[in-house]
Amino acid sequence: MTDLLLTGGRIIDPASELDHTGDVLVRDGVIAAISAEPIATDAPSIDCEGFIVSPGLLDIHVHFRDPDTTGHHEETIATGAAAAVAGGFTTVCCMPNTTPAIDCRTVVESILYRGAQAGLARVFPVACGTIARKGETVAPILELVEAGAAAISDDGDGIADSGTMKRILSLVAAADSVFMQHCQDPTLTRGAAMNAGPLATRLGLGGWPREAEEIMLRRDLVLNRSIGARYHAQHLSVAESVDALRDARVEGQPATGEASPHHLLLTEETCDDWNTLAKVNPPLRTANDVDAIKRGIAEGIITVLATDHAPHPAHTKDTDFASAAFGMVGLECALPLYREALIDGGVLDWPAMLRMMTCEPASVAGLAHLGLGRLETGGPADITVIDPDAAWTIDPEVFHSRGRNCPFTGRPVRGRAVATIVAGRIRYQRAGDRADSAIEDRAEVR
Ligand SMILES: [Zn+2]
Repeated sequence: MTDLLLTGGRIIDPASELDHTGDVLVRDGVIAAISAEPIATDAPSIDCEGFIVSPGLLDIHVHFRDPDTTGHHEETIATGAAAAVAGGFTTVCCMPNTTPAIDCRTVVESILYRGAQAGLARVFPVACGTIARKGETVAPILELVEAGAAAISDDGDGIADSGTMKRILSLVAAADSVFMQHCQDPTLTRGAAMNAGPLATRLGLGGWPREAEEIMLRRDLVLNRSIGARYHAQHLSVAESVDALRDARVEGQPATGEASPHHLLLTEETCDDWNTLAKVNPPLRTANDVDAIKRGIAEGIITVLATDHAPHPAHTKDTDFASAAFGMVGLECALPLYREALIDGGVLDWPAMLRMMTCEPASVAGLAHLGLGRLETGGPADITVIDPDAAWTIDPEVFHSRGRNCPFTGRPVRGRAVATIVAGRIRYQRAGDRADSAIEDRAEVR
């Protein structure tokens, strides 16, 4: 394998609190040297002056819709992984709401195999808590984790039955894995399409009460008190969830939570005029909720940023709001959206934001022991080179994802990955050398 030298970038490693200008040498898939001084070598190099050299970004919440025996192929592991590296992500964890669901060893192993075959981002499956995600029969959690599942979740649905949830938490603790909960009490959200309130009433849409999220989250944290499993609350949308998570962390529970780009930047107003691109689960909430989630991040209560990348074909959005599919794509526009919400929003600086995209999600998903989410001599050379100020306009038509369902279309943003390196190989690089010099809008996956 050839060497690669990254020269003159701002090297940020949140795990070790490294933040200085210098060179990074990659050799045989691992980081051979990190130096504040220029490294002399005739290896091929990337000029990173003005750029950030970060550990490869992790997104522990994506939907790749694969396997899919329905024939819809809204995404595949290969197209999803291409979207990941184009967005700067070197590792993703894909959710089990597939057909069939990820509830047996064979499916876990096939996703690991096909992720490796795609040869782009590292792809780790998240396996089911219950068989076929039906919320009834507990899945063989120990076996699924042993087969390589990074986490356990029925994402798309919460585990409604408290007894079942308690058994799952016990098994997750025994497996030293993590449960990722989609917090939604289904008895409160029948027929719900958007945040409950005056706007839903005016649009004639079923309202999704905020309590649906808090109730399940609080219940889980009560159940987990005597168990102490690692527990992760997905895509938090309401202020009360931040309070619930804070309470559990103060108690000493190993509980974490994540925020998504859309819940940091958009409110229910985006659903006005029956804009189906803004239909998402959990729904967009109020400005007060957006502020509370940002405060939760500033306080260190929410430690992970995750996209909930959810591709859908156009026809499932090009319909009436009540019938439209939930979700939006996120991998290829997340980085600048986080920048807008958190850095431009005065909540975090670059090292603190990158922490939420590198070592923190690696720790939650149990991937830190592989050396992922950090820059370390001798560790895997998963590196994202970021132009923090690149100005561009979000256009889903050029996404590598098959999904075009994005409510941020046409939004001017700043910041993007210019090179994504996985195990020492450049898996994505923006056309041209410099992102600020008339880069074409077409990106190449190598
Ligand atoms: Zn979910």
